[in-house]
Amino acid sequence: MLLGVKIISVENIETSRKMADHLTKDRRSWNMSRIRSKDTKPETVVRFLLHKMGYRFRLYRKDLPGNPDIVLPKYRTAIFVHGCFWHRHKGCKRCTTPSTNQKYWLSKFAYNIARDKENRRKLKQEGWKCIVVWECETKKPELLSRRLVRLIGN
Ligand SMILES: [Zn+2]
Repeated sequence: MLLGVKIISVENIETSRKMADHLTKDRRSWNMSRIRSKDTKPETVVRFLLHKMGYRFRLYRKDLPGNPDIVLPKYRTAIFVHGCFWHRHKGCKRCTTPSTNQKYWLSKFAYNIARDKENRRKLKQEGWKCIVVWECETKKPELLSRRLVRLIGN
């Protein structure tokens, strides 16, 4: 999988391919320690984890509200990978507010939050399950994997 190239070594690409091909029951316990997520884009991490767990997905469905980052057709599930700053991850240390031009920022943030909410509402209306993955969650791949399996299902 090309997307995996950035975050795993070459020997691991083959390993993860084999793992994806042969789904095992203990997919939750796979060792995620080799994922160097520090300099990897959050979306790439999520795709890598999903792939590793054997989920099949599509990217960027332009026909769906909000253009979800990842779509799992089989589970009718849409995943948004949100930056904590722009999409306002409540209680997160990355969710800061610049001290200058506060009025601008606050209205910008309010707009983003409202738009996200509206997109999720539309998707749910069309029978889609929505999952929001926060940028900061991708720094803890093992925890995130467990959460994804729990939310998506087996
Ligand atoms: Zn966050």
